[in-house]
Amino acid sequence: MSQIKWWQWLPIFPWRIVASVEAAPDIPERLPRNGAVLVGTRAKPKWLAFDCPCRSGHRISIPLDPNTRPHWTVTDLETLSVHPSIDFTAPGRRCHYFIRRARVQWARDSVPKR
Ligand SMILES: [Zn+2]
Repeated sequence: MSQIKWWQWLPIFPWRIVASVEAAPDIPERLPRNGAVLVGTRAKPKWLAFDCPCRSGHRISIPLDPNTRPHWTVTDLETLSVHPSIDFTAPGRRCHYFIRRARVQWARDSVPKR
C-alpha cells in the first residue's frame, strides 16, 4: 500500500496508517487528515511520519527502529497506538500528546493549551 487510496482523503477517519513507503524521501508531501505514513515494513518499521495534530502545519517524524535512542513503538498498527507520548517543542509551542486507540489525547502541559 505505497499509494494513498482516494477514500483515505475523506475527512472522516480517526488516526490510522494511510500508506507505507520504503524510505523517508518517499513520504508524500500532502497527507490526509489524521493520516500517518509508515516508513519500512510492518515487520521492520523504521519511521512514522504525520502532520502534527495541532494543525499548525509541521510534520512529525518519529524513529521506530529499536536500535536507535530514543525510539517509539507502534503498539497497535490497526487501531493506531504509539508509545511513549510525542513531545514536540518550538519557540512558544509545545505539542505533547498521546496517540492511543486512533485518538490523540493532549497532555495538560501542551502550549497553547488544548
Ligand atoms: Zn504541533
